Amino acid sequence: MSRNHAGDTNGFYVTALGTGASTLSNERASAGYVVHVDGDPTLVVDAGGGAAGRLSDARIDLTTVDGVFLGHLHIDHTADFPAIVKAAYQQGRGDRPLPVYGPAGTPEYPGTEMWVSRLFDEETGAYGYLSEFVERYADGDLALPVTEVDAIAGQDDDVARIYERDRITVDAIPAVHGQIPSLAYRISHEGASFTFTGDYASKTENVPRIAHGTDILIHNRLLANDVDPNDPKTNLHSTARSCGRNAREARAGTLVLSHVSRGDPADFETALETIRDEYDGRVIVLRDLIDIYPDGTVVDARENPQTGRTGSGGGDGPDIVVIDDRSG
Ligand SMILES: [Zn+2]
Repeated sequence: MSRNHAGDTNGFYVTALGTGASTLSNERASAGYVVHVDGDPTLVVDAGGGAAGRLSDARIDLTTVDGVFLGHLHIDHTADFPAIVKAAYQQGRGDRPLPVYGPAGTPEYPGTEMWVSRLFDEETGAYGYLSEFVERYADGDLALPVTEVDAIAGQDDDVARIYERDRITVDAIPAVHGQIPSLAYRISHEGASFTFTGDYASKTENVPRIAHGTDILIHNRLLANDVDPNDPKTNLHSTARSCGRNAREARAGTLVLSHVSRGDPADFETALETIRDEYDGRVIVLRDLIDIYPDGTVVDARENPQTGRTGSGGGDGPDIVVIDDRSG
């Protein structure tokens, strides 16, 4: 397994914009992340409500970002997508297209192409005004080319390489989130990688497969320990035991828990004990505005000396919880 250190990752790290779920009651924005490469914001993963505001908090400029990767199209993963698109162009993206990657649709659920068109189509989109606005006031040309990825899980799915550019690759595999098309992504750079489970019910081996040997496994939404196995929620999300097992089977360097709906990290205690039964490595309960590196190092995004930001804030919001691995 590749284990890098903060000093020599060439600035490959993830900023957590939003580590919350839908309820917006625990000092966390909904899901959203920015992947930095060579210290530059390069890829966006999810854009839930509040994520756009966190970009401003962390002073991250998306003008030159190369792509937005949406795990699925639920509100808590996409509500701030329009705000991010607008900001990227208004801040000076010019004629540079902003590629969007996301799940293909099914008869019941729109795919990413239809979803983007319903937002931004000049004739019929809810925000159809934006093309003309960008042309007139931002001296640019709004372009959101969409790549759809098959996102309905079978029993034995292959990992698909969907992006390859400047020594960065993105792989995808269908996750299982009820009937909703949903993807897990693995983003790799020079042997180091972050894997985002997306919303995943652990009903296949797909996440351990795509995450095999990953440095950081960012695992979404933990169900309560005592959830009834017949509760419909178990078709949408993973139990603590499944999270721990996924991390162990993947041989992940660090398990990062995110998309948190609980109010207080103390509520995690029993869930963390269960995870500990399954997985020996480093476990982190993430919070917003944290930069996380492939070796599991965490730094406040507003005070990260590598980005030149020092002393600009931090300290509020829920505490980050870090449990070191047993071997270390
Ligand atoms: Zn979700």
